[in-house]
Amino acid sequence: MPSVQELLAQNEKLSKEVFAPRADEVDFSRSFPRKNIQELGRTGLLGLTVPTEYGGAGGTMSDAAQALETLGHACASTAMVTLMHYCGTAVIAAKGSTALKQSLLPAVARGEHLTTLAFSETGSGGHFYMPVSEAARNGDGLRLKAQKSFVTSAGEADSYVVSTRKAGAGGPTELDLYLVAKGAEGFEVGKPFEGLGLAGNASAPMKLDDVELREQDRLGPEGSGFQTMMEVVLPNFQVGAAAVSLGIAGAAFRLSSAHVTTRKYEHAAGAPLAAIPRVQFLAAEMALELRSARAYLAETLRRAASGDPEAMLDILGIKAKAAEAAVAVASHAMTLGGGSAYGRRGGLERVFRDAQAAAVMAPATDVLKEFLGKACLGVPLF
Ligand SMILES: Cc1cc2nc3c(=O)[nH]c(=O)nc-3n(C[C@H](O)[C@H](O)[C@H](O)COP(=O)(O)OP(=O)(O)OC[C@H]3O[C@@H](n4cnc5c(N)ncnc54)[C@H](O)[C@@H]3O)c2cc1C
Repeated sequence: MPSVQELLAQNEKLSKEVFAPRADEVDFSRSFPRKNIQELGRTGLLGLTVPTEYGGAGGTMSDAAQALETLGHACASTAMVTLMHYCGTAVIAAKGSTALKQSLLPAVARGEHLTTLAFSETGSGGHFYMPVSEAARNGDGLRLKAQKSFVTSAGEADSYVVSTRKAGAGGPTELDLYLVAKGAEGFEVGKPFEGLGLAGNASAPMKLDDVELREQDRLGPEGSGFQTMMEVVLPNFQVGAAAVSLGIAGAAFRLSSAHVTTRKYEHAAGAPLAAIPRVQFLAAEMALELRSARAYLAETLRRAASGDPEAMLDILGIKAKAAEAAVAVASHAMTLGGGSAYGRRGGLERVFRDAQAAAVMAPATDVLKEFLGKACLGVPLF
């Protein structure tokens, strides 16, 4: 396996030379970016965060964030698929049994296994930490009936980290997480979600109709699913989603800057749009949004890595901040891009649509602000 630094350099190169030029095709055809995922697998990037003892590169959350920002800049659909894969991988590495890790993680490291999260349910929407499905005992085993919504890489991933209330749960947060293999009996993928943006992330509902849950595939001790969501999934997802949003914002800034520096009016003696004070003002606002969100992400990662007790506040805040920055930057970029941006040429309109996803993707910006406000005021989160 190449080193983390080699992988990140390879990711920069692939993103610029291969994924960015394919991004419009992925978007227009709404097709899963299979070729990109194969490239990420072949080069070792799908194994970036797999511990070295299982053949991975042993990358940190910060390394994953760097990779995801670069991917988000090139092709946000590819970035989202990779983000959910890194989140699933983190749960398997942290909570899987030794046997499960030995059988799965080397394949992830070799790029032969894609995973994802299947948490959201129709019955609890954006409150993904409170699934309404409940595992049911059946003789010695367990079965699950669940209606999962908006699963990224639905039907494309090889495995799914599935949440459920534990059998006989006494409360809504007594949860378990299980790994369910693609093609398990009773596993069905529904009609594609067809979102406004991230058109290639194969988002679709999934029905689990009496799917067998095997004890050896449970991720963590019985009833520990909620804690795993908070301690493993939330940090990885929040910083990863923020990084994807920053990548999208960076792309919007780059594309609109290219437009305003090259678009010239004959009637104004060939002066570019960039010479107009209002255009400069909007560029400054975009730069401030981007730079402050990027600095906040770096600070969040620093605090999380140092075990700072306040890190959770930033982990809650960073996805909201980066999501808002992406929408603000992309909106200004659309204004500056004029008719060519609006007319679906040159990628800006795609980037604008991609930027909207993070605000509603659970935990939604509104929910995060509720959590953050509670945390700031010492009010219990749940
Ligand atoms: C691109 C994309 C990819 C996704 N990928 C996955 C995936 O891989 N796996 C997965 O499990 N899920 C995934 N999801 C689902 C996602 O995580 C959310 O569950 C889903 O977007 C919530 O949608 P909903 O329509 O049920 O929202 P609703 O529950 O209907 O919420 C709508 C809005 O209500 C408001 N709201 C709700 N509760 C509160 C509150 N307490 N305080 C303030 N406001 C509130 C918020 O503004 C929220 O946006 C994905 C979603 C998107 C958009």
